[in-house]
Amino acid sequence: MLDIRQIPVLNDNYVYLVRETESGATAVVDPAVAAPVLVEAQRLGWTITHILNTHHHGDHVGGNMEIQAATGCHIVGPRADKDRIPGIQTQVGDGDRCTFGQDEATVFDVPGHTRGHIAYWFAADDALFCGDTLFALGCGRLFEGTPAQMWKSLGKLKALPDETRVYCAHEYTQANAKFALSVDGDNAALVARAEEIDATRARGKPTVPSILGIEKHTNPFLRADDPVLARNLGLGGASAEEVFAEVRSRKDHF
Ligand code: ZN
Ligand code: FE
Repeated sequence: MLDIRQIPVLNDNYVYLVRETESGATAVVDPAVAAPVLVEAQRLGWTITHILNTHHHGDHVGGNMEIQAATGCHIVGPRADKDRIPGIQTQVGDGDRCTFGQDEATVFDVPGHTRGHIAYWFAADDALFCGDTLFALGCGRLFEGTPAQMWKSLGKLKALPDETRVYCAHEYTQANAKFALSVDGDNAALVARAEEIDATRARGKPTVPSILGIEKHTNPFLRADDPVLARNLGLGGASAEEVFAEVRSRKDHF
């Protein structure tokens, strides 16, 4: 079983401390920075044994070397981006099973935001660590990939069970909701969710993790295959890839 703690760092990043309770194995997912992670682990009495990186951006690997120096932990990251992950020791890719204490994560290659981006899915715990691929009501910018690639990557995540909790790496949800309403404003589930998000943020609370089943109905980037959304965008009859490309491009200019 996993005990998951969320550490807000920098402007809007979330780092996760994840403890497998049987063995005591403890992973840091995407340490943007080291100091607050080390402080929190010490406060909890947890010894960090692993770092799990989703992609090479500085706000996801910036704490790797300092945490490894302090703890001797083992660094796991994407095989497809091994040269850009500081200190990487174990390289993983699509379909790999990654042992973590008594638990196990399945790895997915999810290129688009970066070409080597991966996600970690702990099936037994309904927990998905997806970095900057899928956000609550959003998805990552396409720095190193095409819309078709990202749509395929999101399809792998969309296929996971509705109960899956989506532990993404940023608190972008409120801004994402404003954009989502601009393309899918007739979606009652989205309108209701946007109100909840405003209330949650007004109380200073995180909107992450979100629930995948809710994302499937409200996140426009997961709904590019829905004819209603296509029609709203004036793209009736277009392919899901084309609709996705249009949604992503509108968000880039929103
Ligand atoms: Zn990133
Ligand atoms: Fe990021």
